[in-house]
Amino acid sequence: MEKYRLLREKLLRDGVVTENQLVPAGPASDIDLLRAHDRRYVEGLRDHTLPEKELRPIGLTWSPQLLERSLTSVGGFIAATDRALKDGFSGLLAGGTHHAHADRGEGYCVFNDFAVAALRLLELGKVKRILIIDLDVHQGNGNSSILGNREDVFILSLHGERNYPFRKVPSHLDVALPEGTTDETYLEALDNALASVTFSPDIIFYQAGVDNLREDLLGTFHMTFKGLSARDRRVLEYANGIPVALAIGGGYARPIELTVEAYANTFKVAKEFLKK
Ligand SMILES: [Zn+2]
Repeated sequence: MEKYRLLREKLLRDGVVTENQLVPAGPASDIDLLRAHDRRYVEGLRDHTLPEKELRPIGLTWSPQLLERSLTSVGGFIAATDRALKDGFSGLLAGGTHHAHADRGEGYCVFNDFAVAALRLLELGKVKRILIIDLDVHQGNGNSSILGNREDVFILSLHGERNYPFRKVPSHLDVALPEGTTDETYLEALDNALASVTFSPDIIFYQAGVDNLREDLLGTFHMTFKGLSARDRRVLEYANGIPVALAIGGGYARPIELTVEAYANTFKVAKEFLKK
């Protein structure tokens, strides 16, 4: 939990962002949530009436604070997508909750921020096509279960074949990489995957998980800070002016400062690009 605070502090301390560039998020509304989630699930979480066995796969204990945090995290990503459409780039200092399905959460994900924000932009007619680039080490089974059959969304996922979730739900393009994947192998796979995507989006949602890092406790890859920054540059080069909304995704290194540093590096790379 503390990584979110540490990231915010580090971005300010390192001069990557100023206080007035940080905009607090409001909670997602029911109208927005219900575009991607079942009413029974949303109300069950809100009222704390979901059976315990349905809460267990989330891996977090229900509390009013958890509910508030989950709603605000989705609200934050919604705001990031609106802001990206105006400014070209915006990042949420949280989120990327790609394991949440329409009717259930799992893997520390309560609501699915990318699915909620995608369906909102499409239904409001703000965009016609959305590309999701999901580079967290875990496959975004929730994104795929909600959006995987749509033609106006394209999900590209690079992930660990031996990582959770063990039953993966097909994305539009899945690239599963073996245990011990290094920077070099990863970047080559990413280049090939991006080159094969023939989809012209109006906005890109980037799940920039840093659990690819060698020191991560839940990831199986052996990537370095340098490799992750090269990865981020590839994505922003690929975007080439298409608006990008980013969420930080997973990161579980010990000490947690390594994860925070990796997240901060992503924002540093984005800032270099914005200057250009
Ligand atoms: Zn992850």
